Amino acid sequence: MIVKMSAHATATEVDAIEAKLRDLGYGVGKMIGSQVTLLGVYGDIFKLPQDDIAQMPGVERLIPISRAYKRAAQKGDALNPIHSPVSIGPVTVGGDELTVIAGPCSVESESQIMESARMVKEAGAKCLRGGVVKYRSSPYSGWEGLGSDDQDSLRRGLELIVKAGNAFEMPTVVEILDPTDVPVYEDSGVACLQVGEPNSKNQALLNRLRDTPLPVIHKRGNSLDTEAYLLWVERVMALGKENVILCERGIASCNKYTRNTLDLGSVAAFHYQLSGLPVAVDASHGTGVRDLVFPLSLAGIVSGASVVLVEAHPNPLIAKSDGFQGLFPEQLRGLVRAAEEVWRTRRTNEREYVTTAALERDYEGRMQDDRKRFFGES
Ligand code: PEP
Ligand code: MN
Repeated sequence: MIVKMSAHATATEVDAIEAKLRDLGYGVGKMIGSQVTLLGVYGDIFKLPQDDIAQMPGVERLIPISRAYKRAAQKGDALNPIHSPVSIGPVTVGGDELTVIAGPCSVESESQIMESARMVKEAGAKCLRGGVVKYRSSPYSGWEGLGSDDQDSLRRGLELIVKAGNAFEMPTVVEILDPTDVPVYEDSGVACLQVGEPNSKNQALLNRLRDTPLPVIHKRGNSLDTEAYLLWVERVMALGKENVILCERGIASCNKYTRNTLDLGSVAAFHYQLSGLPVAVDASHGTGVRDLVFPLSLAGIVSGASVVLVEAHPNPLIAKSDGFQGLFPEQLRGLVRAAEEVWRTRRTNEREYVTTAALERDYEGRMQDDRKRFFGES
């Protein structure tokens, strides 16, 4: 919320508003222009007695700036942002620990997903991923996943990945395409539902996911700007669901070299400014280039992600989907090791991160003196 003072407001009136807001527990940032003064109000705006403030002498009007996506938005204030963790089975995501979720693009057979689970566990990742129904652009690809025929095949496919996850004590993350399949996923023992990029704004699916107790990883559509994406995420959360994880997996751009353009600026914006939800980075789909998955996953952690979602296969050269971007087991091991180190470094260096809100007040207090020193203004 911004309190806009009238052009004739006196310094005493501005001070009175500031004092009142601070008394009420709000943070205040002041912008003194040549014509008007604006007061930025930080805190829980829903509790602000807006009418009382609006009627105080010198106030022209209150300008709301709270975000349209209220539940997905960052809670707390600019100085004390709150990041809420989400549980994927026994694994806490978005807390103090980094979470690597790894596995093949698709579940292809019992032995393939079992070997994949072993590979993921041995690499040190915490959750197993794998698609049982695949969303394919081409109707002629010949592979839409083990579970694509009907709900029975879906059930059997989900059983395979849950069995593999249980065998290696890892919760599982599986993409869901159809809202009518939610009970099948819930009954299967899958720990987390993934909304894939093509369904990022599938209204029927997102509405249905409001009711599931399972956590949801909601991937960003490749042509959704940050605000539109967070509004689609808000749709899942609109009735009170809280266990949602954001995922940046690349957006459309002029770049032809990589499959998508991993938008690391948005990863930082989601984590540091816009949202309190955990942020995942998926450099597999974000680059579509196996040898770029390592550097871009690490860059995602530095940028603000606490979850790395990554495709890997016991032999990606024979994978039925996305093999070109799937890591070899050795590469997955290296990535998990490096990711943990980068995570520790980020957490240490975050102590050096000072927000503008923390400094603004001091510098506002110096504006008159500094103008005099630098520009000779009185
Ligand atoms: C996937 O995770 O396998 C997948 C298809 O991802 P996306 O929806 O981001 O393309
Ligand atoms: Mn894939």
